[in-house]
Amino acid sequence: MEGYTSKPVVYIGSQELAKISALLPSNKKRSMIVHSLVSSLGLMNNPKASENARRLQVVSPRKASYKDLAVYHTRDYLNAVLDASNLTTDGEDQETDILVNAEFGLEDDCPRFAGLAEYVQLVGGATLTATKALQQNLADIAICWDGGRHHARKSHASGFCYVADCILAILALKRPPVQSANPTPPNTLSTVRKPRIMYLDLDLHFSDAVSEAFYSPVSFSTPQVLTLSIHHTAPGFFPASERAALSNPSSPNFDPFTLSLPLKQGASDKTYECIWPIVENIRKTFEPDFVVLQCGVDALAGDPCATFNWSLGDSPGSMGWCVQKVVNEWPGKKLLLGGGGYNSPNAARAWAYLTSIAMNKPLDLETEIPDHVGFPLYGPSFTLNVSAGNMNDHNSEEDLGTLHTRFDNIIEVLQKRLAV
Ligand SMILES: [Zn+2]
Repeated sequence: MEGYTSKPVVYIGSQELAKISALLPSNKKRSMIVHSLVSSLGLMNNPKASENARRLQVVSPRKASYKDLAVYHTRDYLNAVLDASNLTTDGEDQETDILVNAEFGLEDDCPRFAGLAEYVQLVGGATLTATKALQQNLADIAICWDGGRHHARKSHASGFCYVADCILAILALKRPPVQSANPTPPNTLSTVRKPRIMYLDLDLHFSDAVSEAFYSPVSFSTPQVLTLSIHHTAPGFFPASERAALSNPSSPNFDPFTLSLPLKQGASDKTYECIWPIVENIRKTFEPDFVVLQCGVDALAGDPCATFNWSLGDSPGSMGWCVQKVVNEWPGKKLLLGGGGYNSPNAARAWAYLTSIAMNKPLDLETEIPDHVGFPLYGPSFTLNVSAGNMNDHNSEEDLGTLHTRFDNIIEVLQKRLAV
């Protein structure tokens, strides 16, 4: 198509996905709000694009099969979440239900809900559909805003996450692509590097389940996966994980492929701009073939978590600026996933804007929200931007200096491990 580079951005969406994903108790209706804003802004219509813009190809997700999900999740967990008949409703059996639910984390912030089985299959399948589009070379960028469930574990729901779609995607990307009809001669096969995947997590919360799934402090081979989580951590702040603290090469438990960069309260564009060269250095050192970018938006100003003060914007250090660098400047293929974000209209603003960045035709942040079913949610500004608030940024120059020194050491270790 004229005016476009040849490959589209694959965008996973369907009425069914929006409807089922909108049932998530922590983010009721969010999926519908997000997809309807993206649609109402015309991003799915592909109006005449500027040079180098990419068109958006909306792809319906296929449901993940039991086998797809069992690549990571345990059978017992899948039986508990996929089979509604496991849930009795009255009498003595209620006690058994409570015990089963507790065993699999299906309580407190992860209650069972009507539609849970479909949710797990469809959201897991949505991220895997996006992953497949990259592997089959249909796209260099694929987006699944309903994915990014980075707290879900092998046999345990946690932190509003019931399906470990990030981990399933990484495991799929680790596998070499299907052989073509003309396979590479055996003598050259040995020189082909296995795909490397960098998982970068921008969510306010530490990517505990993903980081721990690939954590391997005693391995001396070159892992295919590097995880880097930028987040807030503090005593009592979710999730409690040893790995959430600043990575430390002096620790006996240090794994240079499982990296953690915690920031203090009020982190703003200025702080993200200051730490971004660290992210760039890790990427340049690891040279990933695929980048899985978890774009949780609960670090943005205006989120009920009220912990960071990040702006959506396009100025240096903003979320849009960081994502622009990953999708448009980094080599390799990118999978963009959603995540946390509890101010639904702001999540919709952010993911719509990031979609336009992935299409390489960023919307103007002053764009007025179009008249559509979700319109009343966007007051009082009724524009696309999510501006920073007045929160103090507690990340001092000294703190940021410490992060840089620490990561200089980490990158040295990483270089040595990769040179083996
Ligand atoms: Zn979060």
